[in-house]
Amino acid sequence: MQIAPNTVASLAYVLTNIQGNTLDQADAQHPFVYLHGSHSIIPGLDNALNGKQAGDTLEVTIPPEQAYGLKDDSLMQQVPRSMFAGVEEEHIIPGAEFHAQTNGGMQTIVISAVDGDTITIDGNHPLAGQTLHFDVTVLEVRAATKDELSHGHAHGPGGHHHH
Ligand code: ZN
Repeated sequence: MQIAPNTVASLAYVLTNIQGNTLDQADAQHPFVYLHGSHSIIPGLDNALNGKQAGDTLEVTIPPEQAYGLKDDSLMQQVPRSMFAGVEEEHIIPGAEFHAQTNGGMQTIVISAVDGDTITIDGNHPLAGQTLHFDVTVLEVRAATKDELSHGHAHGPGGHHHH
C-alpha cells in the first residue's frame, strides 16, 4: 500500500538541522505514526512521503517555508523583568523556555536576550527559520480507520490515546 490521503504511516526518522545536529528521532521500536494529509506533519515532509511504501527510505531537505515557517520579527518582544515575577533569577537566561497561555492557546516562549531589567522574548516556534533534513524509513502503511478519519489523527501505538 502506498502513502496517500486517508492512510496511516509508521516512520523511523532522524531529524537534523543544517549544522548536522540531531534535533529529534524515532526508531522502529518507537515509531512515529501519523495520518497522511491531515496537516499533522510539516507540509514538506507530507509531500515527500506521498506515494512511498513500506521499506522505502528517503532523505529530504526542507526549507523553512515548507517546515515551521520563517522567523516572524513581530513575535520578538521586549518585556520588563517583572513579567517573570516568581521565576528564580538563575532561570532568567537566554535559551530558557517558558509555557505561556496566550489568545492562541499554549505557546512556548524562549528568552533570547537579557539586558538588565529588559528581557527579549521570542514566541516563534523553536524550529522557525531553520532548514530541516529528514532521513526517513517507511515501516508500515495501512488504511486509516473510520475513527481516525473523523478525529483527524492516528490512533494506537505511536498515535493518540484516548481515555
Ligand atoms: Zn482520536
